[in-house]
Amino acid sequence: MVSTAEKMTHYPMIIGGDRVTTGSEDVINPATGKVFATVALGTAADVDRAVTAAKAAQSEWGALSYGERSLALMKFADALEAHTEELANLESLNAGKTTKLTFNSDIPVSVDNVRYFASVVRRQEGIAGSEYLGGYTSFLRREPIGVVGAITPWNYPMMMAVWKIAPALAAGNAVVLKPAPNTPLTTIRFAEIALEAGLPAGLINIVTGSVEVGEAICSHPDIGMISFTGSTRTGKRIAELASPMIKRVTLELGGKAPFLVFADADIEAAAHGALIGAYTNSGQDCTAATRIYVQDEVYDAFLERFTELSKQVVVGDPFDAGTDIGPLSSQTQLNKVKGYVEEAKQQGVEVITCSEVPSEGFFFPPTILVDPPQDAPCVCDEIFGPVPTVKRFSTEEEAIQLANDTPYGLAASVWTLNVQCAMRVSAALQFGTIWVNDHLPLVSELPHGGFKQSGVGKDLSHYALEEYTIVKHVMIDITGDQRKDWHFVTFGKEGE
Ligand code: NAD
Repeated sequence: MVSTAEKMTHYPMIIGGDRVTTGSEDVINPATGKVFATVALGTAADVDRAVTAAKAAQSEWGALSYGERSLALMKFADALEAHTEELANLESLNAGKTTKLTFNSDIPVSVDNVRYFASVVRRQEGIAGSEYLGGYTSFLRREPIGVVGAITPWNYPMMMAVWKIAPALAAGNAVVLKPAPNTPLTTIRFAEIALEAGLPAGLINIVTGSVEVGEAICSHPDIGMISFTGSTRTGKRIAELASPMIKRVTLELGGKAPFLVFADADIEAAAHGALIGAYTNSGQDCTAATRIYVQDEVYDAFLERFTELSKQVVVGDPFDAGTDIGPLSSQTQLNKVKGYVEEAKQQGVEVITCSEVPSEGFFFPPTILVDPPQDAPCVCDEIFGPVPTVKRFSTEEEAIQLANDTPYGLAASVWTLNVQCAMRVSAALQFGTIWVNDHLPLVSELPHGGFKQSGVGKDLSHYALEEYTIVKHVMIDITGDQRKDWHFVTFGKEGE
């Protein structure tokens, strides 16, 4: 704990529109390893208060028309956009992301996401509205779930919060969200800006803290849905906690994306794609290109060019416009990444360290692990650092087998100029997103979510909006008959 004499900003929780300052946890700048702020530390009792506030806010918010909710969210998006500079700088300070990334991606993408859900909710429509059974008209209602519990990770702190809050609110829910303990600041500011922009108190509640708060959210009887983004390990625990009350659950979990380079690919494009895929956000990306497989004929040429480019990646101060990648987000993450590389070295894997890093802070250089065994931990586990593996394959069949040889199924990419190969391989890969001749881009209109142990449910797109609604079938008798012709199956005789 830092002494209050140092006058660091203390960030509150946001509960029922109040700024709740109780408890204190240090917040560290990953680029220096030093404490620069403190944040309130919530408890299960805070979750309970947040749920009460959320229930009260939701009953009015959920009753608004789509147009009214949309307008309120559009105003909120404008307010967020007006705070771009503040939010981008804060995200860089707290998570170690470069300002190149936060100004040009994290914050504008988050604003776009709020605008997308504010607009797409207005075209919600039922698919029934007809006589599916003679004598009855049916229609479907898509209703809000009520209070949604959301839990987010540290790698894209604000964007992950927005991916949950925007569709949840558009669909008419209120939210109680717990950010990751080490990166809560932009999520707190997000909720404060929402209040300033006129969204009702209690609609977005942020309870900061760790496992106690997360588990209280998952177990709370008045929370109808848990929307979680984080590791597969925690996702399994979340599902366990949610199951006694059969809560709805969406889980956006880990990944270990394959990146398949075929012999006919544009090798220069593939090498640049691998650079972006493997190192964006210092490799702390669930869709990162971590397993690069290259066809024999072009293996040497690809590895040479990829290594050459990797050596040009500038690692350093996230606030310097010339920096390509910043530090890892915490000391724990740095230790984990170092551990995987050390283990690979001890197993005899060739390790190419590509650049120098600052001595202070949690920096780790782009590092290529050359041809490790397919069952090595560095190939199987999510490392979450700038550490791709590069391996060979001979045939299309082998490429597909190697790519699918993982419990994860979030994203993959295929590099080829042969359209038939691209079509065959993208159909055979068991991943939620497949890119052809690129890696990483996502967009508000199209879904993102995992196969296999990368999760259930979708973020982004109208599919995400549907996750935050519950479908109700309303069936109306249109005959007025007191005794229907099918009633004989339980009472009386047919035709009476
Ligand atoms: P994590 O699972 O350790 O933590 C995620 C969140 O869960 C944090 O807020 C944490 O405090 C909370 N938590 C931990 N234990 C809990 C428990 N028992 N009950 C309730 N909440 C609990 O993940 P992380 O290290 O913060 O984030 C990195 C992971 O997130 C990676 O695996 C990455 O692939 C994944 N991720 C996935 C996506 C996606 O879209 N699929 C996006 C971003 C990150």
